[in-house]
Amino acid sequence: MHEVSVMADLISAIKRELEEYDVVSVKEVTMIVGKLTNLGAEQLEFAYEVMSKDSILEGSVLVIEEEDITVKCEGCGYEGPVKNMDLGEESHYQIPILSCPECAGAVTILSGRSCCVRSIDIEEGV
Ligand SMILES: [Zn+2]
Repeated sequence: MHEVSVMADLISAIKRELEEYDVVSVKEVTMIVGKLTNLGAEQLEFAYEVMSKDSILEGSVLVIEEEDITVKCEGCGYEGPVKNMDLGEESHYQIPILSCPECAGAVTILSGRSCCVRSIDIEEGV
């Protein structure tokens, strides 16, 4: 599972970051996950719960904000979301089409690849 290794890296990065502060407890960790990363929010939450046990992060809540995919077309100047391939209503997956929805030209990806921590809500000691 890809999510597990991502979360392991993320959690060790968060712990390193928290060493700088006098942390009593962590309330909430907000992360941004781009839709192009193919990371499942549920799997990430599960991995977080398992891996935060017996650490300063235990009991904190992981909040995942999804980042939409946006692109810029070099040909016609279009800037915005991409179309998704229609896989039918039964499917949970959406497959984005990474070409310009206006002219089908090549595009530059502006967002959707992020996988990062946006904020860590901590309670500091006095
Ligand atoms: Zn275009």
